[in-house]
Amino acid sequence: MPTLVTRSSMPALDEYIEEIRSIWDTHWLTNMGTKHNELTEELQKYLGVPCVSLVVNGHMALENAIRALKLEGEIITTPFTFASTTHAIVRTGLTPVFCDIDPSDYTMDVSGIEALITDKTSAIMPVHVYGNICNVEEIQSIADRHGLKVIYDAAHAFGETLDGVGIGNFGDISCFSFHATKVFHTIEGGAAVFKDKSLADTLHYLRDFGILDEERIVETGGNAKMNEFCAAMGLCNLRHLDAEILKRKAVYERYTERLEGVKGLRLNKIRPEVKSNYAYFPIVVDTQFAKTRDEIQKLLAENGIYSRKYFYPLTSEFDCYRDKYNSNLTPVALDVSHKVLTLPMFADLALEEVDRICDIILQT
Ligand SMILES: *Cc1c(COP(=O)(O)O)cnc(C)c1O
Repeated sequence: MPTLVTRSSMPALDEYIEEIRSIWDTHWLTNMGTKHNELTEELQKYLGVPCVSLVVNGHMALENAIRALKLEGEIITTPFTFASTTHAIVRTGLTPVFCDIDPSDYTMDVSGIEALITDKTSAIMPVHVYGNICNVEEIQSIADRHGLKVIYDAAHAFGETLDGVGIGNFGDISCFSFHATKVFHTIEGGAAVFKDKSLADTLHYLRDFGILDEERIVETGGNAKMNEFCAAMGLCNLRHLDAEILKRKAVYERYTERLEGVKGLRLNKIRPEVKSNYAYFPIVVDTQFAKTRDEIQKLLAENGIYSRKYFYPLTSEFDCYRDKYNSNLTPVALDVSHKVLTLPMFADLALEEVDRICDIILQT
C-alpha cells in the first residue's frame, strides 16, 4: 500500500449509521436541518466563537465573506496559498494585490502591507498557512488605521488557539474548510465564523439564494448549504478530533526529532503561544542540502510515498493569472514555493513509516 500525503479520518461505520438514522424518520436531507443545526452549535463551542455559518465548502465561505462585507476594488492577499483564496477574490469581481510572505512562518509579511494600500483597497485577506497563525495584532492595527476589513483564510487552522483564544475570533470573518483532507472534515464543507451578529442574516441568506421568506429575496445569493449527511459526518468526527490531533502531534514530534538541525532543511516552527492542530509537515529544502526538493519528492515516490509541493506554483503563477501579476514582486514566496515539500501527515501514520520517510530523505 502506498503512503499518501494525507488520509481522511473516518468514524466507525456503526457510529455514522447511528448518527444518520433519524434522517430516515424525518426525510429532511438538507436546508438547515437538525444535524446542520446541531453541528453549528457544537462548532460554536469547540471554536469558542459566537457565530458559525456552515456552508457547502471552504471556498464558498470565502466568497460569501467577501460578499457579506460588501467589499469592492482591491484585496491585499498572499500568493502562497491554495487556488481558492485568490480565485474567491477574482470570482467576486475584485482584484488581488499580492503581499510577500515571512520566511520564518510563510504567513503574510506584515511589513509589506501598507505599501500596497491604495484608494481602491477594501480588505486584507491573509492565510494561516499550515496552521501557522498570522501576526493578527499587527494586521488588525493596519486595518484599523486604514479602515479596511480583514478576512482570514483559516482553512488550515481549525481548532487552534492563540494565547488560549480560538483562532476564529480574529479579523471580521474567518473561513474554515471541512474538506475530506483537512484536520476536521464533513466530507465537503466549510464555515464562515465571526463575532459581529449583524453579519449573521446576510451570511445566512447568501448561502440560500438570498431567500428571507417565500416572497422576499433579499440578496443575490447562490446555493452553498451544507446537507444533513455532511453535518452528521462532522458530528461524528468532532467527537474524535482531540484524540486525532494527539496522534498527529506524535507524528510531528517524530519528524522533528529525526529532521531537526539537518543542514539545509528548514522545519516549520510552532510558536509556544499557539495550540497547534498539526495539520501539515512542510520542509523547505535549501541549496545546502544534498538533494533538491524535486529529487526528494521523486525518491519518496519511488518508495511508494507521496509528498506534495504545497504550495507550488504560487497562485500568481497560475496559467489563468500569469500575464496579470509579477511573481518577482514577492521574492520570498517565489523562493519558498520552489523549495517546499509537505510530507505525509495524518493521525494514523505509523511512527515506523515516519522513520522510513526520514531515512529516505537523509540517505546519502
Ligand atoms: C482547502 C483550502 C481551501 C478551500 O476549501 P474547500 O473546502 O476545499 O473549498 C481554501 N484555502 C485553503 C488555504 C485551503 O487549504
